[in-house]
Amino acid sequence: MITANLQNIKDNIKQYDAELIAVSKKQPDERIDEVLACGHRVFGENRVQEAEARWDQRRNQYPDLKLHLIGPLQTNKVKAACVLFDVIQTLDREKLAREIIKHAPDMPCFIQVNTGDEDQKTGISINELQDFHNFCRDLKMNILGLMCIPPIDEPAGLHFGLLAQNAKQLGLKHLSMGMSNDYSLALEYGATHIRVGSKIFGERIS
Ligand SMILES: *Cc1c(COP(=O)(O)O)cnc(C)c1O
Repeated sequence: MITANLQNIKDNIKQYDAELIAVSKKQPDERIDEVLACGHRVFGENRVQEAEARWDQRRNQYPDLKLHLIGPLQTNKVKAACVLFDVIQTLDREKLAREIIKHAPDMPCFIQVNTGDEDQKTGISINELQDFHNFCRDLKMNILGLMCIPPIDEPAGLHFGLLAQNAKQLGLKHLSMGMSNDYSLALEYGATHIRVGSKIFGERIS
C-alpha cells in the first residue's frame, strides 16, 4: 500500500522539478521503514524531540538521509535541531535567525510566511517579509526560498500564488508549498518542494 502510494505520487510529479518530502510525523516505525526500503530519503518532521527519537539511529544507517524541519522551532531547541536536520523550513523571526547562525551558519532555510495572517499560525506576515529577508541576508544566512501553510478555509491557490509572487520579488528560487490534498495545485503554482504525509503513509496515529 505505502509503496504504491509513494510510486503513485512520484509518477504524478515526475514532469515537475520538485522535491517530495515524505512527512513522517506521528507515523509508526514500520511505515517509515517501508518508505526507506523504496529508496526514498527525504523526510519532514514537525517536532524536534519526536524527530530525534525516530531518526537518531536511522541517520547512521542511511547516510544520504535528508531531514526537513517543517514545524515551529523554539530557540531553546535550535541547537538540537541543527544537529539533526538538514533544512529548516520554519524560519520566521530575528531571534531564531540569530540562534541558527550561532549553531549552523550554513544551514539551508526557508522563510515561513503566514500568508493568511492567521493569529494562531507561525510565520512572518507578508508586510514584514521584505525587511526580514534583508535581515537574514545581512546575517549571510543561506535562504533557499519561502514556505507557507494556507488557511484551511480559503482556496489554497490564492496563497500559493501569493507566495510565488513574493519569492520572485525577493529573487528566491524555492517554494515549499502543497500537502497531501493540494500538492498538484501547488506544483502548478511553481512549488519546488511538496510536503506529503497521509497520502503516502496513511492516517497519522497520535
Ligand atoms: C503534517 C504536515 C504536512 C503533511 O500533511 P498531510 O496532509 O498529511 O500531507 C505538511 N506540512 C506541514 C507543515 C505539516 O505540519
